[in-house]
Amino acid sequence: MGKIKASEAVVKLFENWGIDHIYGIPGDSINTMVEALRKEESQIKFYTVRHEEVASLAAAAYTKLTGKIGVCLAIGGPGAIHLLNGMYDAKMDHVPQLVLVGHIPARLTGTDYFQEVDTVELFKDVAVYNKKITSAESFPAVVNQAIRTAYQKRGVAVLSIPDDIALGEISDSSPQLSTLFEKKNPGLVQDDLNDAVALINEAANPVILAGVGAKSAKKELKAFAERISAPVAITLPGKGAISDTHPNFIGNIGKIGTKPAYEAMKSADLLIMVGTDYPYAAYLPEGAKCVQIDIDPVKIGKRYSVTVGIVGDAAEALSYLTEHTTPVQERPFLKTCQNRMATWWKWMTEDEVKKQTPIAPEALMSAIESISEEDTIYSVDVGTSTVWSTRYLKVSEKQDFIVSAWLGTMGCGLPGAIAAKQAFPDRQAIAITGDGAFAMVMQDFSTAVHYKMPMIVIVLNNRQLAFIKYEQQSAGQLKYAVDFGDIDYAKFAEACGGKGIRVETFDDLEPALEEAKASDVPVILDVVVDVDAAPLPGKIVMDEAKGYAKFTAKSIAENHKMEKMPPMKTVMRRFL
Ligand code: FAD
Repeated sequence: MGKIKASEAVVKLFENWGIDHIYGIPGDSINTMVEALRKEESQIKFYTVRHEEVASLAAAAYTKLTGKIGVCLAIGGPGAIHLLNGMYDAKMDHVPQLVLVGHIPARLTGTDYFQEVDTVELFKDVAVYNKKITSAESFPAVVNQAIRTAYQKRGVAVLSIPDDIALGEISDSSPQLSTLFEKKNPGLVQDDLNDAVALINEAANPVILAGVGAKSAKKELKAFAERISAPVAITLPGKGAISDTHPNFIGNIGKIGTKPAYEAMKSADLLIMVGTDYPYAAYLPEGAKCVQIDIDPVKIGKRYSVTVGIVGDAAEALSYLTEHTTPVQERPFLKTCQNRMATWWKWMTEDEVKKQTPIAPEALMSAIESISEEDTIYSVDVGTSTVWSTRYLKVSEKQDFIVSAWLGTMGCGLPGAIAAKQAFPDRQAIAITGDGAFAMVMQDFSTAVHYKMPMIVIVLNNRQLAFIKYEQQSAGQLKYAVDFGDIDYAKFAEACGGKGIRVETFDDLEPALEEAKASDVPVILDVVVDVDAAPLPGKIVMDEAKGYAKFTAKSIAENHKMEKMPPMKTVMRRFL
């Protein structure tokens, strides 16, 4: 009977689970695992990143794009702490993730040893599975359990691995662990389906709200919306569930949403929620009936008073409803929504054609769209870049759009593009990020260069935390602590071995984008955008209007000047 290192047995197990890459940074407390990975480098690619946060954010983004578990690795202590942000992104956006962190040798635990951090305690809140490995023999079985639990609970499984235990030897004839994992969707309940059909047939003004859970049911969602002639609003991470150009599409709902979606919700008599846990109740109809489809029973009725809950997979439920509801050829409510949408798109086009310098972010989005491909993956960051991309980019069902939706962490754009190129090397990857967010992870542009991942990183450079500035204004506060110095990100790109193009005038924008598209190395397009471009809500509600009025009065009283405000025409259109 032969012997094998526990770490090597575990790496074999990873291969059996179909894990083909890991993001991370090696180091003393995890080096035995890294050595085992080195021996299998033809099967599992190791991406050495420049900051552990990028490893866990990339792992989360990989799963958002593929559904397969993302894996990241770091030493214990500081490396483990750096991973936290991407781990919370995975937790909050419900994606399975496996995290391997080193640990000081088992025999020294509790002695206040160098870099000793109680990682099991540290990860308690973020993890659905959180174990310290205590014996070489049980290590593979614990890994197996960790992966299953991460898939089943759609969350983060963490293993803290004392390096001496990873080094331990176990029998090479240990029973083969099964990597078979069958996640069955809950079966649909006939009575619920019947009740839903009746409600849908009765409704005059039904509105569908599609979330990220509807992205696995794009075909079925479209067929259902067309069958009953209902308008479809989407959540932010649901962008792409139905094409932005579909005639029933009425846009996002919420602060970054459209006015027609807001208005449709206000006059709806039936809300049909599909794969969404949408949190902003003020934007939902008041007192409408509601059908909610969700794979997770805990979500039914969580945010809205639900009349009929359908627990199950969105594709299956929508197929049934499409087959059994009465077809509606013409619905006056849909017509009204479409007329409002036509006006909305007209307003958006007026913004997009601004040929000004400094560049209007709206015009930049339109220019990005013109170089994008049929199956582009957009990895969007958090800040005003979220608003411009969500509102102005027309995303189709064949494209992908990912963001840190629940954690809302700045710095997710670049790691998302890295994951996109790993998952789909032949697809175009475009990261859209602000200078504030990009600066948090910019060192990892060199990772994209090192691993030859051609991508386009668009930095909206306004030398400001603009989203926060507008939060301050709408709350009636004065702008404070949101400005920072300029960085020439184009020069930085060149310093990393990539291509950098700084775009300062509108006339240079289109040629720069074409050059970026043609590049076979990663490119940063450092676009100097209008610092006064205000990401106004699609519908300005009374509290926001009051906040802006208070801010204006305060800036006159305290600063003796009136800050530059968005054009009155735009404000009034969105307010009235
Ligand atoms: P989730 O909360 O992840 O819900 C998805 C649901 O789908 C879950 O309940 C899940 O169980 C279910 N599901 C999964 N798979 C299936 C399946 N196969 N079948 C059926 N059900 C399934 N969001 C907005 O919508 N509007 C905004 O204005 C907005 N502004 C934002 C601004 C910023 C700067 C940021 C960072 C975020 C913003 N968000 C906004 C995002 C917001 O915080 C929430 O993350 C988002 O609204 C939740 O979207 P969701 O319900 O689609 O996703």
